[in-house]
Amino acid sequence: MNITVMDLSTVQLLTDFAYIIAIAFFVLSLKWLSTPATARRGVLVGEIGAALAVVTTFFNPELVQFQWVLIALFAGAIVGIPLGLVQMTAVPQRTALSHAFGALAAALIGISEYYKGISSTPPLTKFEMVEIAMEVIIGSLSFTGSLIAAGKLQEWLPQRPIVYKGQNYVSFSVLGAAVLSALVLMFNPTVPFLFPAMVVISLLFGVMLVTPIGGADMPTVIALLNSYVGLTAALLGFVLNSKVLVVAGALDGSSGFILAVVMCKAMNRSFTNVLFGAFGQLQVTAKAAQEERTVHTATPEEAAAILASANTVLIVPGYGMAVAQAQHKVRELLDVLTKKGVDVKFGIHPVAGRMPGHMNVLLAEADVPYDKLVEMDAANSEMPQTDVALVIGANDVTNPAAKTDQGSPIYGMPIIEVDNARTVMVIKRSLNPGFAGIDNPLYYIDKTMMLFGDAKAFVSSVVKELTGGGE
Ligand code: NAP
Repeated sequence: MNITVMDLSTVQLLTDFAYIIAIAFFVLSLKWLSTPATARRGVLVGEIGAALAVVTTFFNPELVQFQWVLIALFAGAIVGIPLGLVQMTAVPQRTALSHAFGALAAALIGISEYYKGISSTPPLTKFEMVEIAMEVIIGSLSFTGSLIAAGKLQEWLPQRPIVYKGQNYVSFSVLGAAVLSALVLMFNPTVPFLFPAMVVISLLFGVMLVTPIGGADMPTVIALLNSYVGLTAALLGFVLNSKVLVVAGALDGSSGFILAVVMCKAMNRSFTNVLFGAFGQLQVTAKAAQEERTVHTATPEEAAAILASANTVLIVPGYGMAVAQAQHKVRELLDVLTKKGVDVKFGIHPVAGRMPGHMNVLLAEADVPYDKLVEMDAANSEMPQTDVALVIGANDVTNPAAKTDQGSPIYGMPIIEVDNARTVMVIKRSLNPGFAGIDNPLYYIDKTMMLFGDAKAFVSSVVKELTGGGE
């Protein structure tokens, strides 16, 4: 391409303008993603912003070898398309893999900038070396940390926390070694083998950071790693002098951090507890295991009769509804009960399911109107006036032990207090525990009826009964 000096400044102006538009789209995307009513628009605008930023980069006059970019785009699409088509329940591990790839890309660019920098004149300044080192350290540890998180969520690696005595000292010494290497490199960037050693140490630290954390905390860890990857991208933006990368990285980093804080709050956990607490091991309490307790059960016919005679029903969906893919049947239940004059609402717990917003996404997919969804606090204040709380595949988020049992690992976690409703019905396949691996006393109280079965099949039978198809 023959670009004159005049052309170059025009191209620069246009690309800067396009990047500002892309940045505006990213900000709007996050704003719209914050409520279900505008979330689809938020996704679309974010995608357009990302596409605009990528296309604009092709007009960068420094880009001379297009073929490598095209090969990388093609290879990325081959990996990315199947990753985008995974089941909804596998989205947390898919997200962890995306973070791993993002972190790897950032770390590799940082590595190439280092080798370019030490062989050029003038050589790397102290500031540039620190930027590169921080970017490569965080990128490398986020890469291996995200891989471990994905492996745990996919159950390729043990879910339980892998811990040993003095672990935190060993881990922090390893991190300290990486930081020390960066400091030495700042004063002398060409110390032989120190830079590759720093990369290896950082990769190792990523593994050591995530292996001691239980599978139950992986979604929070992913949000945290997301913020690290955002930070890496922002640092990379400084290294490459790319404003769009600085802003996109900062948005990604801060939103990931806020998400992790929101998740910790919803589970009443602190960051230190998530990172060092070894939570999430299967632990049915000894008392629960020993006691022979009775539960009340009901058939689909009985459940249908109770629901039809109620004035108000609050449905509390959870992970089991996602696994059973029962959301469309649940929508049918909403329609048929509404036709019968029952006031039906959905109580949404912030960490129901396996990722933030999991229930909102599923219910939106089934076209459940947004005004039918109430947040946890509103649901709890309406609970005493609710005739039936219908729990569909939720467990931990309704567990009263979180309020009463100080010894419980979920003690203090805010729950949807279905036990305050007049009648409770719980659809699940057995009395098995949920994600936190703990027993749920809700199932043994007098007002609770267990509706044993797969969520989709059970709701389907109830709908049939209500529409007269079950006779
Ligand atoms: P949960 O406590 O994991 O319980 C889900 C229940 O669904 C299980 O007890 C299971 O019981 C039932 N189930 C599974 N397959 C089913 C099917 N086909 N039909 C009917 N029921 C089925 O789920 P939750 O109440 O939604 O709580 C979420 C948990 O994940 C919390 O502990 C939360 O802290 C944790 N977590 C969530 C996030 C997030 O971002 N959402 C992040 C971190 C951690 P059966 O086996 O007896 O059927």
